[in-house]
Parts: sequence; structure tokens; C-alpha cells
Amino acid sequence: MVAIPDGYMNDLLNIRREVHDTADAMMADVPRTLHSVPRPMIAIAEALHYEVVSIIVTDVNNFHGCSNGSRIYIDISHQPWERRFTIGHELGHRCLWVGHKEWECNAYAEAVLLPRNDVRQVLGEWVGHPLSLKAWAVREHEEGLVTRLTKRYGVGYNALISALGNYGYIVDVPPWSARLNGDRVFEEYFQYFRALKANASRRGPL
Ligand SMILES: [Zn+2]
Repeated sequence: MVAIPDGYMNDLLNIRREVHDTADAMMADVPRTLHSVPRPMIAIAEALHYEVVSIIVTDVNNFHGCSNGSRIYIDISHQPWERRFTIGHELGHRCLWVGHKEWECNAYAEAVLLPRNDVRQVLGEWVGHPLSLKAWAVREHEEGLVTRLTKRYGVGYNALISALGNYGYIVDVPPWSARLNGDRVFEEYFQYFRALKANASRRGPL
């Protein structure tokens, strides 16, 4: 395991805060009618005078989108939640500070799609207190809680689980560290979930 340098978590926390504040400042320029969730990403981009252009990219591996001047290009062959995330990511490239990094644009997309006040309020009502990754998998298995949250915010599972970690709703993941091990966290969650599904199917119908 690689040791985290002293102060790194504090820096990360500050950067995250800065990213969220920048996203909030951007949303302050967007009419209130567009603040509902799932966030209407194309309308938000248009309200900020960006044109969202749909393209199909076949010759670039792992292409999600790009932006140039006032245009944001998204790949129409991707799933709707991926395209929504891409618009948020590209808005990050347009709105964040000079020298920003790719992960900061992902954090920006997360901040726009999963607004902290709304997420905290909803998790407070629906869940009440932080859960372990395993308990999240159980709640998904029993009542589709994680899926309900992805639908509410129009995001994929990866973005949702990352936000749950960052907002402090996964007890076995320190808040704001999901960037360090986001894929691992996501994999671990799905391992629990798959195990629950497998157990349930072994038991068979009642
Ligand atoms: Zn990018």
C-alpha cells in the first residue's frame, strides 16, 4: 500500500471544496428552474451559452467528449448517464482554474450532478446514517436503494458510489478519498452485491 503524503488529504479536501464552490458559482448563473434533479445538463450548458453537439467517435479509444470554445462534444453512442457526466466534466474544463487536472473535472461533474445539499438531505431522509459498503449492497439487494439514487440523479453506479464515499456515507471509506481508490471501492461494492444475488438464487424461489 502506498503511503499518503502528509497533508495530502487536507489538500484533497480543500481542492474538493474549491471544485464544489466553483460548481455552485456556475449554477448561480443558471436559472433556478434548471436546478432540479436529475440536473438537465444540456439545458444547463445552453443557459451558460455552450452548444452541446452530438457526435459518434469510432476511431479513438475511450473517448467520452471534448470541448472547444463554446462547443461541448459528446458521443451519442454512450449511455445517457455517461453523456450527462461528460457534459459536467467538460463544463469543469471550461469553468475550473488554469492548470486543473482530469480528476478535478470528474469531481466537478459529480458536484453538478449530485449537488451536496440535495444529496445530504435525501440521504438523511432515506438512509439516516452512513452504511458500510456491504450494508449498501444489502439495501440495494433488498430494496433497490442504490438504483433509486442513480435514477434520482441520472448518474451511473460508479458516480453514485463515488459521491456516497465523498459525502461520508460509506463508513469503511474515508470521505473524499474515493479518488484514491474509487475503482476498488466500486469493485468491492459489486462483489458484495453479486454474492448476495448468487446466494439468493441458490436458495431459489420460496
Ligand atoms: Zn477531460
